[in-house]
Amino acid sequence: MTTRVACIGECMMELSERPDGSLLRSYGGDTLNTALYLARLGVAVDYVTALGDDPWSEEMLAAWAAEGIGTDRVRRLPGRMPGLYIIRTDGSGERSFHYWRDSAAARDLFAGPGAAETREALSGYDLVYASGISLSLYGEAGRAALAETCRAVQARGGRVAFDTNYRPRGWPDTAKAQGAFRDAMAAADLIFASAEDLDWLYGAEGEAEVLRHHGRCEIVLKGGGSPPSVRVLARDEDVTVPAAPVGSVVDTTAAGDSFAAAYMAARLAGRPPAEAAAIGHRLAGAVIGHRGAVIPRAAMPDLALT
Ligand code: ADP
Repeated sequence: MTTRVACIGECMMELSERPDGSLLRSYGGDTLNTALYLARLGVAVDYVTALGDDPWSEEMLAAWAAEGIGTDRVRRLPGRMPGLYIIRTDGSGERSFHYWRDSAAARDLFAGPGAAETREALSGYDLVYASGISLSLYGEAGRAALAETCRAVQARGGRVAFDTNYRPRGWPDTAKAQGAFRDAMAAADLIFASAEDLDWLYGAEGEAEVLRHHGRCEIVLKGGGSPPSVRVLARDEDVTVPAAPVGSVVDTTAAGDSFAAAYMAARLAGRPPAEAAAIGHRLAGAVIGHRGAVIPRAAMPDLALT
């Protein structure tokens, strides 16, 4: 039987401002990047989010379908729109991000009349993947609904993966984020944790917050350094797997997202954790060699997963 993966989150409209003030439009989202790379690696994956009934929502759906991402679980909320952000680049090349996202359709994935259907559908997946950014979308009630849905996934024999992606501006205060991340890590079967995120969120206690789950679940702790290493902790295993140096790092957007996709694809293909980490590094290494989150298909490394 095919293993089915659900990636939960938000894809936003991205507008990049050019020096003359004109705006170049594209789309972006952390869990969407992961879904896209999972699909490219041959994994049956659905993106689970909510969109509006506007032309840009239609375009997103068409683009995801063209990448082989399943869109049957995308809720459509009439009259709503996707979130939007503008990237402004200053004279020294420094980028800043500016958001319009409070009313984004994706925030209501677990609210309103269609939510029960989404939750029921989600509970039938073999693997459900969400990030800290996904958590920041839903508010207390939505997060509780997601947590309950994850328990239903596990009760049916499925697994839950959580990637710590932490963006402070998505949260009303640090304490809320700390609590939500703690709950999500405690409920996950697989945690992708970035040392940097943990540091921002919990300070010196960051690593301890995730390492307390060693033995209970699989942990991929992404460290710093150049090239960086990851520490993989699974059952009796505790190994450090360094990334190979990359000729030129062009743009690290989606490095972690693509790493998670290749790691999960490798684990689903039966590869052991340390090997999955090396495979994750290979895809992420290719992704950071190109501009943007999504590299050309021709640049995808052959990870020999099948
Ligand atoms: P994110 O901040 O998006 O989570 P990370 O910095 O943790 O991304 O990097 C994710 C992965 O990308 C690393 O595990 C590694 O595979 C790859 N990577 C990132 N930076 C480099 C680098 N300088 N050299 C080689 N690989 C890198």
